Amino acid sequence: MNDHKYIAIIGAGITGLTTAYYLKKAGIKFKIFEQSDHIGGVIRTKSTKNFLYETGPNSGVLGNAEIADLFEELKNDCKLEIADHSSARRLIWKKNKWHALPSGPVSAITTPLFSLYDKFRILGEPFRKKGTNPNESLGELVRRRMGKSFLNYAIDPFILGIYAGDPDYIVPKYALPKLYNLEQQYGSFIGGALKKRKEPKSDQDKKATREIFSVEGGLEKLIKALVKNIGVNHVHTNTKNISVRRLHKFFEIHYNDAIESGFTDIITTVNAHELNALFPFIGKPKLSPITNLKYAKVTEVTIGFNKWEGIKLDAFGGLVPYREQRNILGVLYMSTLFKNRAPKEGALLTIFIGGIRREELAELNEDEIKKLMANEFKLMMGVSKFEPDLFKTTHYQHAIAQYGADSEERIKAINIIEKDYKGLHLAGSIGNGVGIADRVKQGKDLATQIAEN
Ligand SMILES: Cc1cc2nc3c(=O)[nH]c(=O)nc-3n(C[C@H](O)[C@H](O)[C@H](O)COP(=O)(O)OP(=O)(O)OC[C@H]3O[C@@H](n4cnc5c(N)ncnc54)[C@H](O)[C@@H]3O)c2cc1C
Repeated sequence: MNDHKYIAIIGAGITGLTTAYYLKKAGIKFKIFEQSDHIGGVIRTKSTKNFLYETGPNSGVLGNAEIADLFEELKNDCKLEIADHSSARRLIWKKNKWHALPSGPVSAITTPLFSLYDKFRILGEPFRKKGTNPNESLGELVRRRMGKSFLNYAIDPFILGIYAGDPDYIVPKYALPKLYNLEQQYGSFIGGALKKRKEPKSDQDKKATREIFSVEGGLEKLIKALVKNIGVNHVHTNTKNISVRRLHKFFEIHYNDAIESGFTDIITTVNAHELNALFPFIGKPKLSPITNLKYAKVTEVTIGFNKWEGIKLDAFGGLVPYREQRNILGVLYMSTLFKNRAPKEGALLTIFIGGIRREELAELNEDEIKKLMANEFKLMMGVSKFEPDLFKTTHYQHAIAQYGADSEERIKAINIIEKDYKGLHLAGSIGNGVGIADRVKQGKDLATQIAEN
């Protein structure tokens, strides 16, 4: 039934590879076009003699059934690794000290992170009126329901951790739909979460455990497992300067000096700013609500020590609220979370700098960043001398898409274009979430939709 279909996927990141994997399972012909010589997009694992580290995402969340199913299907080719139990402990920087984010009612009362006023005020959260503005920012929503100190010391660092973003820009309806729906469906975060916990869960829902994961040997092993199952011959790398043409019912792909024709569908998984060059026939005005999508600039700093002499690393890591005005967004204790990342007595840490409100930091060069890290490590990580055995920086100009109040227009534009040009699918993190699990879900849903149409 699907014999006539031939799909071109642009981009060999996790979205493109997952789509290809499920297209292959459905018996649909496809080819992936990747402009670089690396397969995996931002997912990349590197190793030295002593350290195994990521230069893109460091971990994911088992946030939906699709990511759990994918690991189950690939279990002979890559081994899911769930983070150490200490990952439940999350630290927040306040007034020159790390504090654990409360994990129960007693710590919620005693924590110095939130003001006494807000701690009392939170008791009234279930009774507060539901919001009516779908484009309300996360900042407004949290101030309204929970209070300023919760925004500053729980939600702000949380949004830095996922989006490197600004809660006053991010719109929950698009960026955190589960949170948005709690208020819309149940009228309260607290009441909604409690009610949801009691609702019966389907077997599929139960797979979304929200555990933190990586893969034994690093996230790139997931990429290798996907490529093995897809067949490496279906992935064309170094296909530079792609532009797509539309010829009657089919699409043609032009790249380097080559042309490939006969595609019934084109799936893009690239960042928004790439779309104008890919689709000259659509035109800039029609694409602009999509290409205007903002991205956070981030620099990822990987720091390894053969022998760690700083503070005890018994947590997921720490996040630094914007109002604390430090030079890092957060630090992940990678050698605590996952096996074989650093020598036995050593440590591997990933630090993120920059983000939507401190972009200038992401532009610094390696020497400047090293000086910055030396200061921050002495204060925040308890090291007396900053002499790491591994120090690497990876810069991202377009790290994470920011789903703001322009999202409604962007999604509308995507829908119009997909309707006007049958067979065109604009995927990737321009919509449907930025996390690895979101990307996997989108890839699987898209392949299923194409197979069923
Ligand atoms: C620094 C960083 C940290 C992150 N941390 C986490 C985390 O901890 N947990 C989590 O769940 N998620 C995290 N994310 C997000 C997550 O990694 C990404 O959303 C996801 O990997 C993106 O996959 P993708 O396939 O959609 O896009 P990409 O990985 O960006 O892949 C797109 C591919 O398209 C190619 N391409 C682009 N333009 C063209 C073109 N014109 N022609 C051909 N090919 C093209 C690119 O080279 C690339 O290979 C992080 C992202 C970054 C950048």
